[in-house]
Amino acid sequence: MSGVRQDEPARQCGACTLCCRLLPQRELDKPANQRCRHQRHTGCSIYPKRPGSCRLWSCRWLVADDTADLRRPDLAHYVVDVMPDFVTAVQEGGERLQIPVVQVWIDPRHPDAHRDPALRAFLDRRAEAEGMAAIIRYGSSDGFVLFAPSLTGKGWMENHDGVKGEQHSAEEVLAVAPQQVARAVGSSF
Ligand code: SF4
Ligand code: SF4
Repeated sequence: MSGVRQDEPARQCGACTLCCRLLPQRELDKPANQRCRHQRHTGCSIYPKRPGSCRLWSCRWLVADDTADLRRPDLAHYVVDVMPDFVTAVQEGGERLQIPVVQVWIDPRHPDAHRDPALRAFLDRRAEAEGMAAIIRYGSSDGFVLFAPSLTGKGWMENHDGVKGEQHSAEEVLAVAPQQVARAVGSSF
């Protein structure tokens, strides 16, 4: 989280501390959308002793080449999580499909930030290359599923039907097969 890659010359956290407010932090018992008690304008006040999950995690803007055209998270008002997740779709007949999703944490002060054309282009690239949908998160259990045109064959499709949005463990996420996503377009969640 904030300051994790301050030694990285290409992209740096700089004045951004958005992940330390938007994302939940279980080791600190911090819910989503609540400022971390260790967060300062200059970054993390316990940086050398921050929890292990803060050490291991960075946003995708900071660490991945495919986000080079996105703005820094505090300027874009969303955080693209490096960790994928999945949602469960229920088809007619009751079949349940697990859909891998890119997680995008939206600043509730800017609820339409997910409409950023650069983010939409990024999500469509992920959809085309990896068969992934997206979950637009306004909190740990509040959000909607977004299907990119590469998955629908048409335009963008939002599904707000009963999305629970609860996060899953890394082990659970790794067990999900990406190829199921195309079958789930239009399903209930
Ligand atoms: S959201 Fe990304 S750029 Fe901003 S503080 Fe967190 S890791 Fe750094
Ligand atoms: S401990 Fe530091 S890096 Fe971790 S969420 Fe709090 S401010 Fe951010």
